[in-house]
Amino acid sequence: MRETSQDLDLWFDPSKCLIGGQWCAPALGGTLPLWDPSIGARISQIARGTSEDIDAAVGAAQAARAGTWSKWTAAERGRFLLKLSAAVLARADDLARIEAIDVGKPLKQARADALALARYLEFYGGAADKLHGETIPYLDGYTVYTLREPHGVTGHIVPWNYPMQIIGRSVGAALAVGNACVLKPAEDACLTALAFADLAREAGLPDGALNVVPGLGAEAGAALSAHRGVNHISFTGSVGTGIAVQEAAARNVVPVTLELGGKSPQIVFDDADLEAALPFLVNAGIQNCGQTCSASSRILVQQSRYDEVLERMAERYAALRIGAAMADLDVGPLISAKQKAIVSGYLDQGRDLQIAAQATLGDLPEGGYYVPPTLFSCASGDHILAQSEVFGPVQVVIPFGDEEEAMAIANGTEYGLVASLWTRDGARQMRAAKALRAGQVFINNYGAGGGVELPFGGTGHSGHGREKGFEALYGFSVLKTVAAYHG
Ligand code: NAD
Repeated sequence: MRETSQDLDLWFDPSKCLIGGQWCAPALGGTLPLWDPSIGARISQIARGTSEDIDAAVGAAQAARAGTWSKWTAAERGRFLLKLSAAVLARADDLARIEAIDVGKPLKQARADALALARYLEFYGGAADKLHGETIPYLDGYTVYTLREPHGVTGHIVPWNYPMQIIGRSVGAALAVGNACVLKPAEDACLTALAFADLAREAGLPDGALNVVPGLGAEAGAALSAHRGVNHISFTGSVGTGIAVQEAAARNVVPVTLELGGKSPQIVFDDADLEAALPFLVNAGIQNCGQTCSASSRILVQQSRYDEVLERMAERYAALRIGAAMADLDVGPLISAKQKAIVSGYLDQGRDLQIAAQATLGDLPEGGYYVPPTLFSCASGDHILAQSEVFGPVQVVIPFGDEEEAMAIANGTEYGLVASLWTRDGARQMRAAKALRAGQVFINNYGAGGGVELPFGGTGHSGHGREKGFEALYGFSVLKTVAAYHG
């Protein structure tokens, strides 16, 4: 028990790892600075775990799988997850405050993440004892059935933008099936991963069933993805890192789920209900300061409504309030100085476009990583700002003539994560939903990846495999076929 900062008010020591149910300093004793993005200042330090700690964590997970954890019935795992969900709900305000300070997201957005974490645990708690195999009619004299079994040790490499939600959907599903987890949170935001694992420990999870090793991607992350004792890896992050993780896992023939980036479009047809669409058009681009894999960074608008949509979106941009996470306004800072440099670089790349709207930064804490949310009018779907994932509060609005052109632009990037249609035409809804290259298609709404129950994942450079919903339980389990000959 140690307080590291008055605002953070932590009940655990963030410079430690949680391995085998014990808080321990990293083997090499390293630490990394913990930054508050709202003020751009170093406020504490976290553990710099290395391959030695990953080794210990994988060993602890293997021991848990060989020990009591593997004896828990599906119903017991489900009951535990429901208990943990209640514990997360009870600490939702604490978790939200920690996440807001660590990530820089407005407090109410951080609180929504804490509630989503609790809901994931509730969903997977309820689902744990509903995952089962099937019987298969076969030759005379045989009975054939399938079993759904845990992989064993699952590795979870998580980014900094939605730590609680991503931990809920991947660790929640993995534990429901009976895997033992090694979690490597992002070096830019690892506090709620540690807090969550501590709550799981307190709620009675056997030692080693969930281990957390904070550290750098190139050290702890690379060690986890290459570890021979890991049986499955769930990775969420950038395309380049996803490829490196998959390459490392391939050397051990370990399956990988990749949840990568996106350039997700919302398509506004001439018959759209614009009043209904407008909040989604803007919020899906600026939520979490645009640092959302399923951010809607492209708005495609049929020519006849183009000027109207630009004008109405610009009104909303003008009203956006930007401030420190704890000020709890509409938009907070970006996560880091590095991310600010990346997003500022993209804003520069838009100098040949017309700025349709730009929010005012106003009076902000000095040193914070703030950028103005910016809306560009963009004639072509080929522009770099219409192709690249900016991962900041930047949207482009692109005109199209007809449905065929809309589909061509929408499908014209390397990504395929989420897409949405705004139209009252039922036949067009069905046609376009089929034509769009995306893991999720929303009709007259935009989920921004929301919906605990809804399978989520990408195509193309957005990744492969599905998390969330019941579908995730298939990914976190292995199917075994048993063929019994009895004559
Ligand atoms: P990142 O790839 O740099 O880091 C993600 C995680 O991977 C971190 O924990 C990091 O430490 C680790 N890592 C870094 N290098 C590694 C290596 N060589 N081996 C193993 N692990 C390593 O990504 P980021 O900057 O943290 O996150 C932004 C990206 O993540 C964006 O592209 C975004 O679209 C994507 N993302 C996708 C989803 C999704 O569900 N599809 C969700 C959130 C973020």
